[in-house]
Amino acid sequence: MIDGKTQLLGVIGYPIAHSLSPVMHNAALAHLGANYVYLPFAIHPEALEPAIQGFAAIGVRGFSVTIPHKQAILPYLTEVSEVAQAIGAVNTVWRTETGWSGTNTDVVGFLAPLQAIAHDWSQTQAVVLGCGGAARAVVAGCAQLGCQSIMVIGRDAAKLAVFHASWQNSDLGDRLLVDTWEQLPNRLVEANLLVNTTPVGMHPQTDASPLTVAEIAQLPSNSIVYDLIYTPNPTQLLKLAAERGLMAIDGLEMLVQQGSAALQIWLQQEVPVDVMRQALRQALGFSD
Ligand code: NAP
Repeated sequence: MIDGKTQLLGVIGYPIAHSLSPVMHNAALAHLGANYVYLPFAIHPEALEPAIQGFAAIGVRGFSVTIPHKQAILPYLTEVSEVAQAIGAVNTVWRTETGWSGTNTDVVGFLAPLQAIAHDWSQTQAVVLGCGGAARAVVAGCAQLGCQSIMVIGRDAAKLAVFHASWQNSDLGDRLLVDTWEQLPNRLVEANLLVNTTPVGMHPQTDASPLTVAEIAQLPSNSIVYDLIYTPNPTQLLKLAAERGLMAIDGLEMLVQQGSAALQIWLQQEVPVDVMRQALRQALGFSD
């Protein structure tokens, strides 16, 4: 129940109506009986500064950040975590005594299903399809796992070069490689971890897959195929991977875990991850 002590959380983006975050967070807040409400805020890029000032004025406790504000929010933060600096993007902001602090929980979210697998990642050659925003969290995650190499595949050589250069100050060194899709067939035979960060196969293009059956056949038999897409579930890529007997991981758990990590920061307490997962599954129309 909303009363005089209810505190405010939310998500900023533009557009924002499609966001599943309010469903997931409000389910958890209700379960905890926490006197908070989590709202969607459609903030036009030109209105970001007054919006952030307004949030401070009205005592917003924290908020999620999504497209197109993940980089643009940086100048308004007094503190940015190391991981968010490495990625160059923030998805979670909270109020402190001195201003706004930001971090990025996408890496924690990406890693959660992988860390649940007992695996020696030091011999892993990761291949990451796409070099956009999510790929940055995936590269940081693969680096944290200690992967032997991380090969990022993109369709635009200039964007790949910018992507590569942006990790210059990291400790990745020559473990990070970039290449174009034409070179992908040569990379697949050694890819023990293949991560799709492109939107290929996402609803409504549910029949599309970033890899063909023949390309999936080239992956080593111990490969893990991880698709960041969460709808459809499974994607065509994951269906083909499972048909080949490979371990397939979908993007839903990343979405749940990045959200639960954010809520934990705002509330400073354990949060009900199962409730958040269930709320998302229901909102996405998945049968259980
Ligand atoms: P983004 O910044 O737009 O990056 C998308 C990347 O995919 C770009 O490198 C883009 O290349 C490439 N791409 C787009 N269409 C392609 C195609 N037809 N063939 C080959 N490459 C293509 O998007 P993002 O924020 O990284 O998100 C990417 C995907 O990850 C989305 O499906 C999103 O839903 C998913 N995601 C999931 C989670 C989760 O929690 N599970 C979190 C974040 C993102 P160009 O730059 O050349 O266009």
